[in-house]
Amino acid sequence: MPENLTKVELPKAYEPGAIEARWAEFWVKEKLFSVATPPEADTRPVFSLLLPPPNVTGRLHMGHMLNQTQMDIIVRWHRMRGFVTLWLPGTDHAGIATQMMVERQLASEGKRRADLGREKFIERVWEWKKLYGGAIQDQMRRLGASVDWDREYFTMDENLSRAVREVFVRLYEQGLIYRGKYIVNWCPRCVTAISDLEVKHEEVPGKLWEVRYPVVGTKEFITVATTRPETMLGDTAVAVNERDERYKQLHGKKVLLPLMNREIPIITDELAQPEFGTGAVKVTPAHDANDFQAGLRHNLPQIEVMDEHARMNGSAGPYAGLDRYEARKRVLEDLRAQGFLVGEKDYTVALGKCDRCGAVVEPRLSTQWFVKIQPLAERAIEVVEKDYIRFTPANYRQIYLNWMRNIHDWTISRQLWWGHRIPAWHCDCSEIIVAREVPSSCAKCGGFALTQDPDVLDTWFSSGLLPFTSLGWPEQTRDLEVFYPTSLLITGFDILFFWVARMIMLGCWFMAPPEKPALEARDARRSNSKDVRTPALNQDELRNSVPFREVYIHALVRDADRQKMSKTKGNVVDPIHVIEKYGTDATRFTLAAMSSPGTDIAFNESRTEGYRAFANKIWNAARFMFMNIERIDPNIRPRRAAEAGRHKGIAGFEAATLEDRWILSRFNSITRNVNESLSAYRFDEAANSIYDFFWGEFCDWYLELIKPRLSPDSENARSTCGNLVALFEASLRLLHPVMPFISEEIWHAIYDGNPPLKSLALAAYPEAEELQIDRTAETEMAIVQDLIASVRNLRAELKVEMKQRVPVEIFAEEPTIRNLIQKNSGALERLANVEQIRFVEESLAKLSSTRHTARFDVRLVYEKKIDVAAEREKATKELDRLEKEKSNGERQLADEGFVSKAPANVVEQRRVRVEELKALIDKLKKKLDELDQGYLSG
Ligand SMILES: [Zn+2]
Ligand SMILES: [Zn+2]
Repeated sequence: MPENLTKVELPKAYEPGAIEARWAEFWVKEKLFSVATPPEADTRPVFSLLLPPPNVTGRLHMGHMLNQTQMDIIVRWHRMRGFVTLWLPGTDHAGIATQMMVERQLASEGKRRADLGREKFIERVWEWKKLYGGAIQDQMRRLGASVDWDREYFTMDENLSRAVREVFVRLYEQGLIYRGKYIVNWCPRCVTAISDLEVKHEEVPGKLWEVRYPVVGTKEFITVATTRPETMLGDTAVAVNERDERYKQLHGKKVLLPLMNREIPIITDELAQPEFGTGAVKVTPAHDANDFQAGLRHNLPQIEVMDEHARMNGSAGPYAGLDRYEARKRVLEDLRAQGFLVGEKDYTVALGKCDRCGAVVEPRLSTQWFVKIQPLAERAIEVVEKDYIRFTPANYRQIYLNWMRNIHDWTISRQLWWGHRIPAWHCDCSEIIVAREVPSSCAKCGGFALTQDPDVLDTWFSSGLLPFTSLGWPEQTRDLEVFYPTSLLITGFDILFFWVARMIMLGCWFMAPPEKPALEARDARRSNSKDVRTPALNQDELRNSVPFREVYIHALVRDADRQKMSKTKGNVVDPIHVIEKYGTDATRFTLAAMSSPGTDIAFNESRTEGYRAFANKIWNAARFMFMNIERIDPNIRPRRAAEAGRHKGIAGFEAATLEDRWILSRFNSITRNVNESLSAYRFDEAANSIYDFFWGEFCDWYLELIKPRLSPDSENARSTCGNLVALFEASLRLLHPVMPFISEEIWHAIYDGNPPLKSLALAAYPEAEELQIDRTAETEMAIVQDLIASVRNLRAELKVEMKQRVPVEIFAEEPTIRNLIQKNSGALERLANVEQIRFVEESLAKLSSTRHTARFDVRLVYEKKIDVAAEREKATKELDRLEKEKSNGERQLADEGFVSKAPANVVEQRRVRVEELKALIDKLKKKLDELDQGYLSG
């Protein structure tokens, strides 16, 4: 423990900064959260989860803060409940993000990555990582995230890279990885292929142009429409639908492609839909995914007219060298001038933009590596359909399944330098060798001139493997046996498909017994079958192949006005800034208390300020406790609570009075609520229960109620103080997962710096003892609280100062209630500053300045401050109103027409009301008389 804690005295003011930094360091230094692999004989339950690895370039943002707060609460809670608890941290090499970071650094030196060459550039990235890559881990340590730092990994570590190669090679051998020339999403600014998920779709106002192509050998034209006219330079056909009567006569003919003067065929294909536009479409196989497929069906040439920067290339004729948008302008001008442009309409265009840099993505023909996703997806669908993986909130299950059922093959190669290089080597003889280690020669021609494929793998390829590779796979480790499947994944919606879905697909593929799929797949390859079939799996094996049993998807943290935080809007809240201002505990508590399922969090600092006050309240309550210990018996603390660290309830609490029985019962009820809430990921309910208990019931009520028993002349002072210590200790355990720092600090102080365990984090989490839940005590206490609150409210209404003592009159019909009030009259006298309690025999309901409840009426006997004039005015107005209503009613009842025509029950109601009004008017008149006579009924 920190040295300055041996003789503990809590400073007067609660200063989270100093406390938190000290404990954060202590936890790391003591390796409190490092987990040894449990031996086979260990029968404790296991709880494991993976930290979604932040990018090595990352800085902590509010999303992380929320995510890590929720994880840390769940992890600390399990650890305290006796689970072998592993929270595995790591960072992601973040291919494109990191490469761009270093490229920017180079640019500031006037260099480009090509100037360095691949090897030097990668060295430079490693250097960058050494210098700046640890920022987010430092921030996590400051948060007190209880991860196992001894097991920290980096996705480019040698063992993880080896596992990546192993997976690649196995998938390739199973026929699930292929290489080919296809249309991919291409970012001309990042100069790489990107996956479907990395494309953001946006609807923007644009134009639809209609262009007519002359049919060769006729005077006819075919009109096609396009939003990207520059691509027509690469057209290799025009398609019409076989069923379309309009074009029957043109089947088998050719058109002359304007501007390029190239003859291209008219083909019949389903690509053209008669219902849509003119029913004829241009076909550009090298620049559109659908046209690409049509091109394959009809064996059309693929003419690329743009380069990797989306500039027109040599195949674009006179437009070569122009940027795509400049080319568009010129193509349109020329088409118009030559009479081919026949229409221009406003049109909403669905633009795909690069998720990283915002450039408009260009569909581009390129040679890439792909994962054949269907077989993997089938299993990943099955495990969710069978609830082997459970989603919270539950609606994400369907979102996941919908996406999974429409999944496309995954482009896994990236034209970057930083990342896992594809383990494939190209030979001059055009053979491609995929291997775990560098091959020495070509298997086909025996040649030695082998070059490794220049591409690297999508970052998500390696992070998709983490649930098993971080536990030692492909070795069959004891860690895998114990910690896989992990228990839970907590993450944001934004990476549900990028990461969660891929982990499920790859986990269910590689963690099921490997022999079967590999064998059948090889057979499938040999027989040249296009479909690799998913082998049927044993259900137990399938259930245990999942990467995690549960997924909790957390909400988004928005600003106080519910706006999305963004740098451009300047409304980003930096969690470190909030922590420095209010403390980590208060920040964590805010996020937990606001985490209601399916609702985004509108982060408001005023809430954090409120929870800082909550921490302060706890602090002051602790100081009150220590003051009493010092005064009554300094030995109370360690001895009384010595065993409590390992006790799941409250140890050594002797319930002597109603408030004791009540607080014990409340503690157990709250404990039950909190445990139930946490098992359902209701962080908000758990935090709010703890808040209401600690602040309201414990501090505001219990501490006040026991004060007389702690006084020097009380013979129960010692046992009362013992109860207080026991209750406080247990409440700190209850609080710890949400506010780990302040609870740790006070807990050590309770033991005078000599606790039974190194840390509160290792103590037992409270469990409800049903026998200590005392409904009678709770009901009785509720009546006492209600009575005290009623008197306080009356005082406030009548503006009677708190320091002025006043007598009260109480009417309670049931003797048991009278008895209860009598027994607790001391509390009423002290907490509502009442000087005399008089029980009366008649209801006080008709009098003013009175509270009525189902169990009692209470009235303040207080004369001086009553404003007679105001009471008179109020009563007179009321009297006026009632008399008007009465005379209206009487007039109606005297009206023959009304009495004979209105429904009988309406007439009857009027009669009853008039009688009521008479009685009320009498009462009011009597009150006015009393006021006039100077008898102030108050
Ligand atoms: Zn880009
Ligand atoms: Zn060869």
